[in-house]
Amino acid sequence: MNILVLNCGSSSLKYQLIDSHSEKVLAKGLCERIGIEGSLLTHQKAGEEKTKRQVAMPDHTTAVRLVIDTLTAPETGVIGSLKEIDAVGHRVVHGGEAFASSVLLTEEVLKTVEACNDLAPLHNPANLIGVRACMESMPGVPMVGVFDTAFHQTMPEKAYLYGVPYEYYQKYKVRRYGFHGTSHDYVSRRAAEILGKDVSELKIIVCHLGNGASVSAVKYGKSVDTSMGLTPLEGLIMGTRSGDIDPSILQFLAEKEQLSLGELMEILNKKSGVLGLSDNFSSDFRDLALASAEGNERARVALEAYAYRVGKYIGAYAAAMNGVDVIALTAGAGENNAEVRSLLGQYIEYLGTNIDPEKNKIRGEEVILSGEGSRVVTMVVPTNEELVIARETARIVESR
Ligand code: AMP
Repeated sequence: MNILVLNCGSSSLKYQLIDSHSEKVLAKGLCERIGIEGSLLTHQKAGEEKTKRQVAMPDHTTAVRLVIDTLTAPETGVIGSLKEIDAVGHRVVHGGEAFASSVLLTEEVLKTVEACNDLAPLHNPANLIGVRACMESMPGVPMVGVFDTAFHQTMPEKAYLYGVPYEYYQKYKVRRYGFHGTSHDYVSRRAAEILGKDVSELKIIVCHLGNGASVSAVKYGKSVDTSMGLTPLEGLIMGTRSGDIDPSILQFLAEKEQLSLGELMEILNKKSGVLGLSDNFSSDFRDLALASAEGNERARVALEAYAYRVGKYIGAYAAAMNGVDVIALTAGAGENNAEVRSLLGQYIEYLGTNIDPEKNKIRGEEVILSGEGSRVVTMVVPTNEELVIARETARIVESR
C-alpha cells in the first residue's frame, strides 16, 4: 500500500509517501509559509537531491493539491496518479481521553477530535485543517488519525492526576496526557527488537530529546508515566519551553513586569528553555555545545541544567517502574549530540549504564552505548514517527 503521511502545522505541511509493504520512503517534502507571502515547497525523491520551489500556497487545500501534483508529475513524481495513494495517515496532536489508539477519520470522529481543540489550541486546529483539505482533494481515500497522546492513555490515575481539586478533572478533564507518543512507542519497541527481547519483558525509559523533549516510563510495553502534561509545556527544559516551574512564578512576574497571562505563556513556550537559560544565545543544542566548548558560560550552564533535568526524570522513572532495564535516547539531540549525552551520562552512572565514550561519539545510528557488564543497557534508537503513522494507517485500513 502507498500511504501518504501528513503532519500539518498552522503554516506548514510535512509529507512522506511510504510503501507500507517494503516500509521504504518513496518521496518526502515540506510546504512552508502556507498562507504567508513567499510560500516554499521542498521535495525529495528517494535517492535524489532535494529541490526547492517558490509556489503560492494561499491555503492548506492548495498545499495538499501541490503535494499531489508533485508526487504524480513526470519529473518530480514517484507515482502515476492520485489513484496510487491508498490511504492518508495524519498526525493529530491531541486526542484527549477519547482516543487510546489510531482511528479511521469519519465526520463523527472529526467532531470528537474538534472537541479536544481547546486542549491543544496551537496544534489540533491546524492538524484538522490538513485532514479537511485532504478530504476535499482526495475524496474516497481513507484517512487515519494517529494521536501523539494515544500511547500514554495507559498511564494510571496516580500518574495522570494533578494535585488540584478533583472537580477540575471531572469538569474539564484537566490531567496529564503526554505527547510524542508515536516516538515513545516506536523507540521502546525497536529497542527491545535490537536487544532480541520482547517489549513485554522490559522496563524501558525513553528520552525523546529534540527541540520539544519528553521522557517516558514504558513498563512491559505500556506507558506508565511521561514528563509532558496537559500540554507539551511540562517536564524537561526544552529548546524554548521552560518545562516544570513553580506556578507561582506566573503571578510574581505578572506583577513585577506588568505582563498578561497570554504574554507570560508566550514567554514560557517560546523564550524559555535553553534559549532563555543561555541568555538568548540559542535554542539549538549544536550551537550551545560549540559555544560551551569555546568558553560561553551561559551556554555551558544551559546544557548542564538541561542534562541534569533529564537525569532527574530518569531517576524518577526508575522509581516509578521499580527498576529499569533499558534507557533509550532519541530525537535530534538524543541521536546526534555527544555533548548532551555525555553530560547526561554523569547522572545515570549509578544505575550501571557503563557508557563507552568511543561509542558515544556515533551520530544518528542505532547503537548500544553501554560497554561490557552494564546492568542497564543505554542505547541510541533514531525515532521514526512517520513510519509508525504509515504502519498504523495500513493496519486500520486493512482491518476495515
Ligand atoms: P528535533 O526537534 O528532534 O529535530 O531536534 C532538534 C535538536 O537536535 C536541535 O537542537 C539540534 O541542535 C539537535 N541536533 C540535530 N542534529 C544534530 C547534530 N548532527 N549534532 C548535534 N545536535 C544535533
